[in-house]
Amino acid sequence: MEVLLHEDLAALSDLDEQSLLESLSQRFRQDRIYTYIGDILVAINPFKYLPLYEKEVSESYKYHEKTKLPPHIFAVADRAYQSMLGRLATGPRNQCIVISGESGAGKTESTKLLLRQIMELCRANSQLEQQILQVNPLLEAFGNAQTVMNDNSSRFGKYIQLRFHNSSVKGAKINEYLLEKSRVVHQDEGERNFHIFYCMLAGISPEDKDMYGLLDPTQYRYLNGRYGSEDIVRKWGEKYSEVCNAMDMVGFEEQEKVDMMTILAGILSLGNIMFEPTETDALRVTDKSMGWLKATAGQFGVQEEELLRSLTCTLSVMRGEAIRRLHNQQQAEDARDSIAKVAYGRVFGWIVSKVNELLAPNVDFDVELSEIGILDIFGFENFAVNRFEQLCINLANEQLQYFFNHHIFLMEQNEYKEEGIEWESISFKDNKPILASDRDFVDKLNSKFKSSPHYEVVRSHSPLFTVVHYAGKVQYNGLGFLEKNRDTIPASIRSLFINSVTPLLSLLFLMQKADDNFNSTRKQSVGAQFKHSLAVLMEKMFVASPHFVRCIKPNGSKLPDQVDNKIVMDQLRYNGLLETIRIRRDGFSWRPSFKEFAQRFNILLIKPDLPLTKESCMSILNTTEIHGWKCGSSRMFFKYWHQEELARLLERLGKAA
Ligand code: ADP
Ligand code: MG
Repeated sequence: MEVLLHEDLAALSDLDEQSLLESLSQRFRQDRIYTYIGDILVAINPFKYLPLYEKEVSESYKYHEKTKLPPHIFAVADRAYQSMLGRLATGPRNQCIVISGESGAGKTESTKLLLRQIMELCRANSQLEQQILQVNPLLEAFGNAQTVMNDNSSRFGKYIQLRFHNSSVKGAKINEYLLEKSRVVHQDEGERNFHIFYCMLAGISPEDKDMYGLLDPTQYRYLNGRYGSEDIVRKWGEKYSEVCNAMDMVGFEEQEKVDMMTILAGILSLGNIMFEPTETDALRVTDKSMGWLKATAGQFGVQEEELLRSLTCTLSVMRGEAIRRLHNQQQAEDARDSIAKVAYGRVFGWIVSKVNELLAPNVDFDVELSEIGILDIFGFENFAVNRFEQLCINLANEQLQYFFNHHIFLMEQNEYKEEGIEWESISFKDNKPILASDRDFVDKLNSKFKSSPHYEVVRSHSPLFTVVHYAGKVQYNGLGFLEKNRDTIPASIRSLFINSVTPLLSLLFLMQKADDNFNSTRKQSVGAQFKHSLAVLMEKMFVASPHFVRCIKPNGSKLPDQVDNKIVMDQLRYNGLLETIRIRRDGFSWRPSFKEFAQRFNILLIKPDLPLTKESCMSILNTTEIHGWKCGSSRMFFKYWHQEELARLLERLGKAA
């Protein structure tokens, strides 16, 4: 029992998959959701309120030593902050906290708690600290949605940089990755569109509703005709005023807010435009949706004919000649959906850049200030159908896993070095080769990677291929990869929006290079862009002191007090925790201090008054036939089986007596 309640599982010498799982779930059942494995914090989502984050708790975790209080997310905040100030031992001043886990595991909640506690640690009550916390509802409204996994699932990854001068925060910057734009036009069963649409429809005044030309929510195809119970609608309404407050605080002008809402209304109307073929091969908008076409044009502030043209044909210039290619029905629907996605994506990017303007008024992010970065990004995904998005996300995780492995090894190595022990090399699954495979698509992929151990060719009519990730095999469907990767906006759509009389809309499409959110590398593919931003992120992380928080979902039903062993075990594997344990086991997993060791085993020398020193430890061990242990400068180093051998000796001695 005592062992099961251990707060640092790395201290257990006989740790294996099963005992790790048991220890974690035992603790979880007692509402001890946080556990350390060495310097990694494991956090299991309780799916219920726990009194763990009150003012007194927050106070008690300020400037504390790791071992004195139970494991906690606030302790991670404290350690990062103290290290950033140089108050703790060695390592670079810049810190990065990597929060990982699958959807619904508690990453975003952990991020919020970390931010809150770091702001508490700065003590100052300047406006900036408040603002850093208050922009969150705004970002969540536009970037989060209800999914099967999580009612408030972040549909974008983010890296928050907090910049400090001495002990006070001087600015913050939010970098966003891979907003799941496809959600605007399609949601699977049991899922919803981004929160903001529902909030807006629930919270808006009747006059404004008229002004924006909004109708009953069930009418909109992009919302799947789904809305919600009265209770839910009321909550959305409340959220809407929260969002409006956040917008005021960020400093949106009245006109900008009006424009933004009008664009959202336009996106909803656009989704209802349907097409049908005519006898003459051409395409027309169905009679029923003519009204929607008109409404959309009005809301977007564009000419109806121009909108229609950009939906029904593509204009290209070849050898100086303009060529018009008529769309078939599928192409027209695709054009419609891509306009919606592009418009929403631009609005989101614009909000993030406004937030960044507010949070870093005078901070030059290229000059040297100390930094704490917090990464909250999707975990490894393996669905029934895995698309381009999953490949990007999984490659990002692959990259993070590499970072993690690298760190764990470095840590082990450093400890050996500090104790004056020679480094014995330990094998680990090197996932680096896989990080090169995102260059091209299925046809090219097959010929290029067919001999790679990380790639499998799938014999099938559909464009399938399999990648062997560190966390397991994932089969991807290459359908739509090229299109999604391209993500370029046809010139006709760009000019449509640039000509909009809605100032914000034309601005969003005119603006280039003003900010990284408006990708300075517009010509690059989505994959290449993502690869680039990932590389920039990794570069930052490799020169910082890392802190890892591994979030775990206890079950697949968002329920409190329930542990599904298989689900948890899968995550321990995906998270690299099992691998971490293996590494420790292959190394010297048991490291008692001289005092600890001599006290416990002096009986083997039958000398109860033995001094608790290094020499004594050596003499104890020299009377045994145990080999392969090492003696450091402050502690002994044993393989995991040594402990068993010693225990057996003690036992034999006990029997003999
Ligand atoms: P992720 O970002 O990993 O997808 P979230 O952080 O959004 O997951 O968490 C999903 C849900 O789980 C939250 O909306 C909340 O209801 C619950 N949750 C997460 N962490 C905690 C916690 N520490 N205490 C209570 N509930 C939590
Ligand atoms: Mg999240």
